[in-house]
Amino acid sequence: MRAACRASRSGGKRLGFVPTMGALHDGHLSLVRAAKASCAVVTASIFVNPTQFGPREDFAKYPRAFDRDRDMLEKEGVALLFAPSVEEMYPAGAVTWVTVEGLSDKLDGSSRPGHFRGVTTVVAKLFHIVEPDAAFFGQKDAAQVAIVRRMVRDLNFPVEIVACPIVREADGLAMSSRNAYLDPQQRQQALVLRRALTRVKKSWEGGERDAKKLAAEGREEFAVEKAVRLDYFEIVNPDTLDAVNEAGAGTLVAVAAFVGPTRLIDNILL
Ligand code: AMP
Repeated sequence: MRAACRASRSGGKRLGFVPTMGALHDGHLSLVRAAKASCAVVTASIFVNPTQFGPREDFAKYPRAFDRDRDMLEKEGVALLFAPSVEEMYPAGAVTWVTVEGLSDKLDGSSRPGHFRGVTTVVAKLFHIVEPDAAFFGQKDAAQVAIVRRMVRDLNFPVEIVACPIVREADGLAMSSRNAYLDPQQRQQALVLRRALTRVKKSWEGGERDAKKLAAEGREEFAVEKAVRLDYFEIVNPDTLDAVNEAGAGTLVAVAAFVGPTRLIDNILL
């Protein structure tokens, strides 16, 4: 993969990289399209990374659709696809981790211990293998964007991190590979995430700046959707992921909730 990526960059061509776990949807394809718009060559990876899943999480049943994914990426003009095996990425005896301390314990990191350590380790490895000029991530995973940006800054990776907007279904649900787990009733219940975020945004646009009050309004929306269990509803600085007192322009409003057994996330930037 490294040899192929280096060859593809010959003559100073800009190489864009889109890392994914597969089960692709339009959200993933929007990253590919953004990469195509600014890079001469685009590469993608499909790797369901075991180290970012907790012991009781959905690693084994995570949707896998390799042939379909490969065809979709080929149609979008992705030149190189990297789909390594777990053994190839984590040879026996691998004990080295990349941890972005502090940030990795916030938001999803607080309810999924070890999750971001797995993410930053695999992203660092992928960056070393692919050596991209730019890598494209979805704003859907807002904490991931902040943590990867910090890793790149702290460890001097020569990679530009580009965050792309959240792609949604027609009714507002953020696209996610995990939406496939939802039955029709849960699919309806899942809309509460978006509804809570929209309510907070409206209230902010109406002049409310007190982050505690805004978060309380968002949480209130969940009280009426009994089947959905709120994990967190936070109003934070998008770079440090620390809670803010005053919600200003650019403040991140982030939510995670369990719809049945399925954990979904969503967010907006005010
Ligand atoms: P995943 O396959 O879930 O690891 O996601 C791979 C990349 O696609 C990550 O950078 C995600 O943030 C991004 N992504 C996932 N869903 C969406 C979405 N609905 N809109 C934009 N980007 C997304």
